[in-house]
Amino acid sequence: MIIRRSGRSYASLCGALALIASTANAQTVLAPRAVPNSNVPEGFHVARVILLGTGGGPRLRANRAQISAVLEVDGRPYLVDVGAGVVSRLTEAGIDTRFVQRVFITHNHTDHYNGILEFQSFVWSDRNQSNLDDPPVQVFGPRRTQFIVEKSLQTFSVAEQTHGSMPGTAPRMPASGMFTTTEITNDGVVYSDDLVKVTAVRNTHFDNYPRDSVAIISGDESYSYRFDTPAGSVVFTGDTGCSEAVEDLAEGADLLVSEVVTGAAPGAAPPRGNSVQAAPVQSRVCSGHLSSEEVGLLASRAKVGAVLLNHLVPGLDDEKDMSLYTIGALKHFKGPVIVGRDLSEYDLVKAASR
Ligand SMILES: [Zn+2]
Ligand SMILES: [Zn+2]
Repeated sequence: MIIRRSGRSYASLCGALALIASTANAQTVLAPRAVPNSNVPEGFHVARVILLGTGGGPRLRANRAQISAVLEVDGRPYLVDVGAGVVSRLTEAGIDTRFVQRVFITHNHTDHYNGILEFQSFVWSDRNQSNLDDPPVQVFGPRRTQFIVEKSLQTFSVAEQTHGSMPGTAPRMPASGMFTTTEITNDGVVYSDDLVKVTAVRNTHFDNYPRDSVAIISGDESYSYRFDTPAGSVVFTGDTGCSEAVEDLAEGADLLVSEVVTGAAPGAAPPRGNSVQAAPVQSRVCSGHLSSEEVGLLASRAKVGAVLLNHLVPGLDDEKDMSLYTIGALKHFKGPVIVGRDLSEYDLVKAASR
């Protein structure tokens, strides 16, 4: 059974000390922290996707934070990407940042990880106040994710010294021990616990980069994630071009959370102002991102249950006709295609097996 939460869907929400790097694809199973008040009905499993930030690329917007989403399974949150604004949106969504213990980064473009510092800051602060015994937050991502996580954590040394030098104040525990990083280097299952199995496949987001580019030489990769849960399955495309691997990953998923790009490429210099006219709609070749039509083809071929669009480009604040994001997809996919906004929700509910 799939439930689109009425009233809060798109229609109404116009919303270690050692840093451990390891090779993923071995299953990682750690005891999950208890999550209070999951509001799971007796005899059911519930999975809820909440889009936290839906604006793709580096452009500043008032109404769309950068890319992040949370999948909550029986009340336990899993974060997918950490764009700027992630902590504020988590709070608006009613999700306590303290309970976010697993983070999955699709790729290392800044609109997908700019919020790592703010997220780490709240974890560091909370744990120093009362939760020092919590296990490290697990961060999963492609090559060079460890570098980003570690460099961000190093900035806390300044605040640690500042707080520690205040008279009468106990020294702060360092932030560096509160996170571990697992770099994904191959397709396969990268994480599992009693509620989710997470499978990653490398997609084609970087496939059009020149072979001699820094990104390619550095081994940059972009991953799409599938979460299989007792309440249903959800696939996050992240940023990708057309990809048979992503089609296979999404096969039969209940929900496809897909990027959609129309008009100018997200990395292009933004126009002055914030005007729809500044970024005319045009068809795009399938090169590193998905157009509306390409989203529809992916959804149709994979036979998913529904599509929830995020990473909107241009995604401007004054857009009124949102059909530019759906019209192409609906040519190919006959199921629901929902244009995501910040804090859009989509629920999956299934009876628990007995
Ligand atoms: Zn992006
Ligand atoms: Zn990207």
